[in-house]
Amino acid sequence: MRCGACTNNAVLLNPAYCKSHFVKYFEDKVFDTIKRFRMITPSDRVCVAVSGGKDSLSVLYLVKKFLDAKKGGGSVVALAINEGIEGYRQKTLDDLKLFCSQQKIELRLLSYKEEFGTTLDYLVQQKKIAGKPCGACGTFRRSLLNRGSKGFDKLVTGHNMDDEVQAIMMNIFRHHLELALRSGPKTPQNPAGLFVQRVKPLYFCSEKEVRLYAHLQGFLTTFTECPNAAVSFRASVRDFINEYEAKCPGTKSMIVQWFLDTIGKDSSKKRSVISSVCLACGEPAVGTRCGSCTIVEQLRA
Ligand code: SF4
Ligand code: ZN
Repeated sequence: MRCGACTNNAVLLNPAYCKSHFVKYFEDKVFDTIKRFRMITPSDRVCVAVSGGKDSLSVLYLVKKFLDAKKGGGSVVALAINEGIEGYRQKTLDDLKLFCSQQKIELRLLSYKEEFGTTLDYLVQQKKIAGKPCGACGTFRRSLLNRGSKGFDKLVTGHNMDDEVQAIMMNIFRHHLELALRSGPKTPQNPAGLFVQRVKPLYFCSEKEVRLYAHLQGFLTTFTECPNAAVSFRASVRDFINEYEAKCPGTKSMIVQWFLDTIGKDSSKKRSVISSVCLACGEPAVGTRCGSCTIVEQLRA
């Protein structure tokens, strides 16, 4: 099939674009999303959460490209989290260090071991966490992203449309209305200043598009999936949605659009505001302990 914009062969069928027109289409979509939701201003100091996968490398590269083009004095720093998962994280961190040095981006690193005194592997081995590892891992990661992004104007994450559709469906299946109200392309400002605003420039890009972009740009690393991912609730929701998308193409973008037109609309007016802090660590908390300190205290008990 030919590219819809020139006579070259298409690298993607829907939309049909050759390599250079696909890269332009993808970058325009990301920059339009940044502008439409006023995600980043030219003078912003931006912290980008990175894992070393296709999504985070692509969003890191594009945020830097956006700020460089604006010449407004904005800057970007990458923030990686080491969960302590043997055979998985170290390789991606090595790749990240190389990528950041090539792109001249400062890379900061926080680890569960240094911040919480434990690794995710230890929590799993000691059976110290109820249910599946991703719950505790997500709680720790959110805490460290919040700590690591203090002093920045925005925290960027590489969530793509597939991630968002999974999150929407997970929140529906589990009746997590508050979590649903906190999601979307851009979180509202916390009036108490306890959170840095989070933004997702890849919100309207499918996983397939991000993978192709990262591949065409030569970003693809030897990134492997976390060994715990296969047993996660998210994985079962992902498989279910992918199966449905194969039968009814367009389902994922319809789910995202439905979310934006309903739950996500004016979500800052509907949701409760976290204004208290954990008495143990000073991080935002509902009650006297944050989720991370609760896990750490259970570990010591
Ligand atoms: Fe953590 Fe689960 Fe992600 Fe692995 S898959 S890094 S355990 S949240
Ligand atoms: Zn705490």
